[in-house]
Amino acid sequence: MYKVLTNNIKPDYPDVKLQEKKVLNAITVDVEDWFNVSVFKDVFDYRDWDHKESRIIPNICRIISLFNEYNIKGTFFVLGWIAERFPEIVLTIKKYGHEIGSHSYSHKLIYEMSKSSFIDDLERSLSILETITNEKVRFFRAPSYSITKETLWALEILSERGIEYDSSIFPIKHDTYGMKSMPRFPFRLNFTNGNKLVEFPLSTIRLYGKNIPIAGGGYLRLFPFWFIKGGIRKLNIEGKPAIIYFHPWELDPDLPRIDVNLISRYRNYSNLDITEFRLRHLFSEFRFGTIGNVLESYNIQSWPSFEPKDQMAGWN
Ligand SMILES: [Zn+2]
Repeated sequence: MYKVLTNNIKPDYPDVKLQEKKVLNAITVDVEDWFNVSVFKDVFDYRDWDHKESRIIPNICRIISLFNEYNIKGTFFVLGWIAERFPEIVLTIKKYGHEIGSHSYSHKLIYEMSKSSFIDDLERSLSILETITNEKVRFFRAPSYSITKETLWALEILSERGIEYDSSIFPIKHDTYGMKSMPRFPFRLNFTNGNKLVEFPLSTIRLYGKNIPIAGGGYLRLFPFWFIKGGIRKLNIEGKPAIIYFHPWELDPDLPRIDVNLISRYRNYSNLDITEFRLRHLFSEFRFGTIGNVLESYNIQSWPSFEPKDQMAGWN
């Protein structure tokens, strides 16, 4: 496989291709079942989740097998509600050498929660994961990227609870999340109480003066594949890592179909049968590792750092 790709190198750009091959990208999985997603938050009552048909175990096994096949380690952000019911999923992820992070307990959007509800939800998820793994949880991803201008306070709370690496901010303009003016690549946050946090924003490329998402979920399924690959290649040529995300249910074309609005149906159900093919292609073409691996492969001290109170105020 590697030989085929090498044969495709354009002779005009050998050094660029070499540079691209050196860069390690992060692959991340938000471990939730198909009915946990925010699209259904007004369709299914949270208390009814236990009565839904779970498809998480076969889907997570499929992902772990896929990662094994390509000898790739990833970062898995596990929903506390899932970990509580299926601790074997967490242990299996750990056994195969992947990183475990929190994806909250209940998948509630942070901007729909009070600070105290967020803290309760976060602490519940950390306690469940840490009891199963017997290790501190250092990674976090907010449900549906719900750390926005209104909820930047959540970052300091994460750092106070021992989270060292967060990947919850999408630097784009979107109807339900995102801050289009924030940095596009990993940066450090230094809080006044001395706590620190590294933020790894989701990958974008600049096009016509705008940040365009390239890397994961619906974008991975719905955008032309040449655009996704070209976007990752562009970042890697610049020496920057991409961060990709997907969900177990996105590899499951047989998902139960729920009647939601047209846009949500399009975002949630389109192209579920091509996710695995696209992941395989990306795994063959680019280098991937965990968030920890990626950030360790750079000198983190050389990334930009911010004193949140002064500098985050301008992000929107
Ligand atoms: Zn999620």
